[in-house]
Amino acid sequence: MSCIFCRIVGGEIPAEVVASDLENVAFLDVQPLADGHVLVVPRAHVAAIEDLEPAAADALFRMVQRLAGPVRQALDAAGTTIGINNGGATGQTVPHVHVHIIPRWPDDGAGSVHTIFPRHTTRRLPDVATAIRRAAAA
Ligand code: AMP
Ligand code: ZN
Repeated sequence: MSCIFCRIVGGEIPAEVVASDLENVAFLDVQPLADGHVLVVPRAHVAAIEDLEPAAADALFRMVQRLAGPVRQALDAAGTTIGINNGGATGQTVPHVHVHIIPRWPDDGAGSVHTIFPRHTTRRLPDVATAIRRAAAA
């Protein structure tokens, strides 16, 4: 088993586990972007969110929702940024689905999700919406 998160899920390597259930394990990121940076991973090895079984996706988001409040409270944070790097092109370095929960404070120097993007678009909204509706209906 070479996947680092599978090895954490399997108990082969240590991690600061903060919660677990039948479908997921949540543990501290070993290189935290802020105190309280948590990763929630499904027990099943799946690289991309779209490849998760529907029940596993439900359970994953339920765990994220369950932990958002405790992470905020434990770190006395004002909010949390919650995100997924989904695919190598996005900066995903571990090819096992994981949701980052990162506590945030006023003036912590970090930006919103919007700050990731240079806002480069070329296509009209109606055309984009039509393309996505078609793909989602297929
Ligand atoms: P990403 O760039 O979205 O793939 O994030 C992967 C995250 O996994 C990074 O923030 C790493 O710091 C974290 N990470 C890598 N190895 C471990 C580990 N053994 N225990 C905890 N977190 C890890
Ligand atoms: Zn894995």
